[in-house]
Amino acid sequence: MPSPNPLVAAIPSVTPFIAPEELERRQGKPFLARLGANESAFGPSPKAKQAAANFNPAHYGDPKSFLLREALSKHHQIPSDHILVASGIDELLALFCRAFAAPGDTAATTDGTYPTFAFAAAAAGLRLSKVPYRDHRPDLKRLAQNAKIVYLANPDNPTGALLPAAEIEAFRRQLPDGCLLLLDEAYADFVPPQDLPSFHADDPNVVRLRTFSKAHGLAGYRIGYALAHPAHIATLDKIRLHFGVNGPGQAAALAALQDQTYLAEVVRQTIEGRQRLAEIGRRAGLIPLPSSTNFVLFDTGDQTAPWLNTLLNKGIFVRRAALGGLRITVGTPEQLDLLEQALNNP
Ligand code: PMP
Repeated sequence: MPSPNPLVAAIPSVTPFIAPEELERRQGKPFLARLGANESAFGPSPKAKQAAANFNPAHYGDPKSFLLREALSKHHQIPSDHILVASGIDELLALFCRAFAAPGDTAATTDGTYPTFAFAAAAAGLRLSKVPYRDHRPDLKRLAQNAKIVYLANPDNPTGALLPAAEIEAFRRQLPDGCLLLLDEAYADFVPPQDLPSFHADDPNVVRLRTFSKAHGLAGYRIGYALAHPAHIATLDKIRLHFGVNGPGQAAALAALQDQTYLAEVVRQTIEGRQRLAEIGRRAGLIPLPSSTNFVLFDTGDQTAPWLNTLLNKGIFVRRAALGGLRITVGTPEQLDLLEQALNNP
């Protein structure tokens, strides 16, 4: 029998995410409210939907994502050779692990944070150093080890924590020259820009990762991008899947980026919904952690499993966080009504 290469054979088989579709199949009924994947409850701009529908599916997407990169370049005031569009942040994590570390190198992450980086690191044969959270926040003092790649999600998933910009800037300053910081900013659109760290566009040690999956409501189209030194973009260009970024997604992301009024309204409604979500949980005895994202992590003490089962049984999809507690995405007012009813009648 043909066998996989030893690097791949050594990777343990795990199911990182049990999809809501899978849970629905197991339960034999659809969920009433889908609040477990941090998708946007408000959906994309109607202009983005229209733009995707206008794309001729007989055509390949532009392998350079030229128009989207030009628009992102204007939006971020960064030359377009600093931008790489890919199939979501997830793909970029895999590409950077493959391209910037060799099997046996160390990659550092926070234990219990968004797990895709750890899977990408394992797939690239890297040794993973997992640093525990400190006070429900990534612990920058301990994360700064002699790793080839360091992963930091800011704001973080699942805690929702936003680290002070100055702390991340100081963290970057003390990184060894050969270390690459992958700064996952999937939820940055929910944060006032002045609260995010700032780096020189040509800083070779920092890569910022952004996505259209969250505030822009385009998770299904799989569009993310990296802002990085042009040499890094050129390196990834050597190994990426050139036709992997689909055409309807590129068109939708471009239109979404140009509809900042819609985005601002989604962010406003998300923040409003987040306050209500925290309050609904609090009234049921769950303790909300402060969040800068479109979800809230609730400390459920030793009651996580019963609460999870109650909500799933009542048709509300939520997630248990690896570090404990329940992570619930901000829903529409109607979805939050359903959640409230479920929590009030366990
Ligand atoms: N990073 C973080 C921190 C996330 O929470 C998520 C989505 N759950 C992603 C990345 C995935 O982003 P994308 O859809 O762009 O692959």
